[in-house]
Amino acid sequence: MTALSKLQSISHPIFKKHHISVAIKRDDQINNIISGNKWRKLKHNLRHAKAATAKGIITFGGCFSNHIHAAAFACYQQNLPIIGIIRGEVSNQDNYTLAWAKHWGMQLNFVDRKTYRLRNDEDYLQQLQQQYPDHIIVPEGGSNTLALAGVAEIIDELNQQTEFDTLITPVGSGGTLAGLILGDKAQHQLIGISVLKQQDYLESQVKELLPAEAKKLNNWSIMNQYHCGGYAKFSQQDAEKVREFSQVTGIDFEPVYSGKMILALLDLIESGYFQPQHRIILLHTGGIQGLAGMFERGILNEDEWPTLPLPPMSK
Ligand SMILES: *Cc1c(COP(=O)(O)O)cnc(C)c1O
Repeated sequence: MTALSKLQSISHPIFKKHHISVAIKRDDQINNIISGNKWRKLKHNLRHAKAATAKGIITFGGCFSNHIHAAAFACYQQNLPIIGIIRGEVSNQDNYTLAWAKHWGMQLNFVDRKTYRLRNDEDYLQQLQQQYPDHIIVPEGGSNTLALAGVAEIIDELNQQTEFDTLITPVGSGGTLAGLILGDKAQHQLIGISVLKQQDYLESQVKELLPAEAKKLNNWSIMNQYHCGGYAKFSQQDAEKVREFSQVTGIDFEPVYSGKMILALLDLIESGYFQPQHRIILLHTGGIQGLAGMFERGILNEDEWPTLPLPPMSK
């Protein structure tokens, strides 16, 4: 098996001072369009849809969703029709994320918050299935059992690439961490950095995704003190720290997912959480396209962040 993404050592004065070695698994580079972990999570879902000769995929996401962006492109590549159930107003359809999704052929169905809240409700899903027979429904963020197998492959690749003690990943819905737990089979310490505030249920959500035999593994934890106020929330100071880290390392990060992992890493190292000589791997889950929504809403200044591919011409 050849590794899909490279492993890159990074240096930083703080790592040096504390004698910690850090390398980053560049899943953000798997594909120049799809953000890393979404590609991993979609891989076996789309394979399954193809094998089952499904008419198409149905999935869910917000107006700026990395998953929607990635799923639209992956389905376009695979020649699979896809419907996106989007939380928000039709007026958002020309934003960066959705303009690309439409460009790649995704059908956008906008729903209000109340309907969107039903995205995991059995009755609602059954109704949706009746409305779109022979379609495969993939949950928000792509996190289901099939997603875990794709993510687990990251560990196989890492085991060929290096030896390490701890792997750190950002956590949103928990699918990525669950896949890593499954693939790791208790070889390493796994730390998830929650990027959202609703902390308590994340651990049970991860466990729920795991098969029975993996539920009792305890080489992982989720840290809940680095969400910076909640999902997609951060102070200008937090964002500045992420930007500085990008400048030192030459690697692009964004402040919604990977940036919070960086803030956590720096804080943990500085507070002496890791013993000297500890070997850490960071999983770069991608998500750089998400910056566009921050620029569009004036939350971040476009001139200070990585340049994104130009949006498609609107039709
Ligand atoms: C979705 C996403 C995550 C979180 O992954 P989960 O599997 O939902 O926990 C992390 N990073 C990026 C860039 C993402 O888009």
